[in-house]
Amino acid sequence: MNPTMSGLDDLYREVILDHYRKPCGGEALENPTIEVDGHNPLCGDDLKMQIEIADGRIKKLHIEPEGCSISVASASMLAKQIEGLTMEEALELKAAFQGVLKGGDWPEGIEFGDLEALEGVKQFPVRIKCALLAWMTLEQALAQYCPGAIGMVDEDRDIEIRAHTLQPKTEEPA
Ligand code: ZN
Repeated sequence: MNPTMSGLDDLYREVILDHYRKPCGGEALENPTIEVDGHNPLCGDDLKMQIEIADGRIKKLHIEPEGCSISVASASMLAKQIEGLTMEEALELKAAFQGVLKGGDWPEGIEFGDLEALEGVKQFPVRIKCALLAWMTLEQALAQYCPGAIGMVDEDRDIEIRAHTLQPKTEEPA
């Protein structure tokens, strides 16, 4: 047990460890619209993310996280929470979660699911990047796919994100 985990509430620690042991990453996608890697060199966390976008929504998402318990749990929670959301809703969720980790309140009207278990991470500033890695990777992926749809992308120079596959944005046939 590392010092961060022992500082968290027991119930929340269980939720985090459940996600860590069995991440909800889903199966690899056959037709990903976007394929990205995220890397957090401060902790050594890595993840691969595939997203299939249709009609402006995140239709399917696949994540393979590797790293500390916080980064893996956060990626798993993202995978559980994000499918079916529009790109805007997904970014709203990311911004709200990031706000909480910076000491803000949970805004009303947004479904956070198990993410609430990660609130305690805000006591450990160096681990906040672990909790945000998957979310920043998602944001960068969406920004590269559809720059017009996204107002402001929060660039974090510590987090490294590489896009691999990027299908051109095309309209679905009617
Ligand atoms: Zn980490």
